[in-house]
Amino acid sequence: MLQSCEAQDKQTKKTTSTFEIQKTEQEWKKILSPEAFYVLRQQGTERAFTGKYYKTKDKGVYHCAGCDNPLFSSEHKYDSGTGWPSFWQPIQPQSIGKRIDYSHGMVRNEVYCAKCGGHLGHVFDDGPKPTGLRYCINSVSLVLKKVQ
Ligand SMILES: [Zn+2]
Repeated sequence: MLQSCEAQDKQTKKTTSTFEIQKTEQEWKKILSPEAFYVLRQQGTERAFTGKYYKTKDKGVYHCAGCDNPLFSSEHKYDSGTGWPSFWQPIQPQSIGKRIDYSHGMVRNEVYCAKCGGHLGHVFDDGPKPTGLRYCINSVSLVLKKVQ
């Protein structure tokens, strides 16, 4: 499931060639739900207050729904009131990547999975201490693995 597919990537000339996990659009469609494909691979956003994790307080680690990369810990999650799961830092700085997103007439900092390039959400600077950051993440991009 996590194997790369070099032959296909050469054909498609995707800009995702720097990511460790490489899949074609068709391969992603096979393993992701339509909602997860829309968010992770097409930079979509789930509607506020509709995702499965925005209220979750269970302890555990949130992994990438596309490639299982550990991304966020419940220790850094807080209730931002926005209707999306919110964290003030990733589990490790290198777990995620950021790039400027100019879509929808706004300038935002997009957050993506460093391993597969899957879109996760955006980061804003109105979060709580100590970082002052708010990682606003789509539930559908995440899979919570609970710990006791
Ligand atoms: Zn990923």
